[in-house]
Amino acid sequence: MAERLVVIGGDAAGMSAASQARRLKGPGELAITAFERGHFTSYSACGIPYWVGGTVDGPAALIARTPEEHRARAIDLRMRTEVTELDLERGRVRALDDGGRESWTEFDKLVLATGARPLRPPLPGIEARGVHGVQTLDDGRALIDTLAASPGRRAVVIGAGYIGVEMAEALIHHGYAVTVLDRGEQPMSTLDPDMGARVHEAMCGLGIETVRRAVVTAVLTDDEGRARAVATEDAEYPADVVVLGMGVRPETALAEAAGLPLGPSGGLLTDLSMRVRGRENVWAGGDCVEVLDLISGHTRHLALGTHANKHGQVIGANVAGGYATFPGVVGTAVSKVCDLEIARTGLLEHQARAEGLEFVTVTIESTNHAGYYPGARPMHVKMLAERRTGRLLGVQIVGREGAGKRVDIAAVALTAGMTVEQMTMLDLGYAPPFSPVWDPVLVAARKATAAVRAAGM
Ligand SMILES: Cc1cc2nc3c(=O)[nH]c(=O)nc-3n(C[C@H](O)[C@H](O)[C@H](O)COP(=O)(O)OP(=O)(O)OC[C@H]3O[C@@H](n4cnc5c(N)ncnc54)[C@H](O)[C@@H]3O)c2cc1C
Repeated sequence: MAERLVVIGGDAAGMSAASQARRLKGPGELAITAFERGHFTSYSACGIPYWVGGTVDGPAALIARTPEEHRARAIDLRMRTEVTELDLERGRVRALDDGGRESWTEFDKLVLATGARPLRPPLPGIEARGVHGVQTLDDGRALIDTLAASPGRRAVVIGAGYIGVEMAEALIHHGYAVTVLDRGEQPMSTLDPDMGARVHEAMCGLGIETVRRAVVTAVLTDDEGRARAVATEDAEYPADVVVLGMGVRPETALAEAAGLPLGPSGGLLTDLSMRVRGRENVWAGGDCVEVLDLISGHTRHLALGTHANKHGQVIGANVAGGYATFPGVVGTAVSKVCDLEIARTGLLEHQARAEGLEFVTVTIESTNHAGYYPGARPMHVKMLAERRTGRLLGVQIVGREGAGKRVDIAAVALTAGMTVEQMTMLDLGYAPPFSPVWDPVLVAARKATAAVRAAGM
């Protein structure tokens, strides 16, 4: 008899796992059943800001594989069906379909890929018409419909993380006057405050009103129950549409109820093969797990599609009897708002301090191209290096075209455990349209090397 694999969650991690397992084992050896409570499978939530903004088509273009395509590969995919209970002792899951029918499905191996849940604090008016999350393609469609029907042209985005700033750009493309409210000292709490301040300044320069230290207290509504403004402790901001980008938490309610181990951020804990700790036949990946931070040695919750897809590959190989591991992350992320590119990898200052590390920091200003080449624009690189050893600890970049993806140089250097001195002689590509003769990352590495020497033993 074929082994039975059940997958919960039909997006990046879940369907990558199911597809990889199917590549390695045919239906005679492995029967795969997958549950997805939504309308779509294998879709790119990452593309939603660009679909909403009109840069890319959607939703079809954002779907890598439809339910029919998965079924054609002998994956029994149950759409609009939510798993409501895990019975790990008896090896079965309970599910409820959209017709209200309940069923139990037995498994030999289980994959949890339930993703993350967007934060939606219980504020007055938060459920009003005109208030939108952007987690799913259905959310994207609903927002596009609201934008098309809205007579006004004022938008408020709550949250200035990467989804918030990407949505600000999308709304600008629709001709909205955009206000971004964030409770932090600076937008982009994934950066140090000094680099966040550069983002703040640039966003204001792009015509996006960016309000810091804004504690939202309510969404105010009109007589018909539509959002008309967002209230903070200090002011009111008129809004015809409100977009929420307040972050996410791992979707682990089912796992928690079944007694599976959760980490400090509420994500499932796995070993390097993505097997849930202490469970022989349960794997988990994507936004519902915590990942090992290779710099700090601790687990963190980092909800990123890049990890979810890799987790799925690893899980698929392992559940099909192969062997693969996910070693961990260095914390790399890149995003943009209009032409401003924002990137980071490794540790921020407060994270390095919390690990008890002593370090130097340097920040340099350079340009994305050779200064004499048309279109050269300033870019800033901040670098952290460990005192005494000179080991690279982190890099943050804010700049224009071509700035953001330079963070990948630092991501590789971090993964390889390089010192900033070793980085100074990296053989990077150079031609005037791409960089100055000394790439800004190398300039930062040189300055950091000098700072490490100056800090002494
Ligand atoms: C607007 C936006 C922009 C983003 N941009 C980027 C980016 O630029 N780069 C990047 O790396 N990442 C980005 N991400 C994050 C990325 O989309 C996620 O990390 C990725 O989708 C996670 O994949 P996942 O499979 O773990 O979870 P999800 O994509 O959340 O999928 C989980 C699925 O499980 C289903 N599910 C949950 N519980 C159950 C249940 N009990 N029964 C049945 N089904 C269930 C859900 O309906 C969902 O479809 C972005 C996310 C958003 C929202």
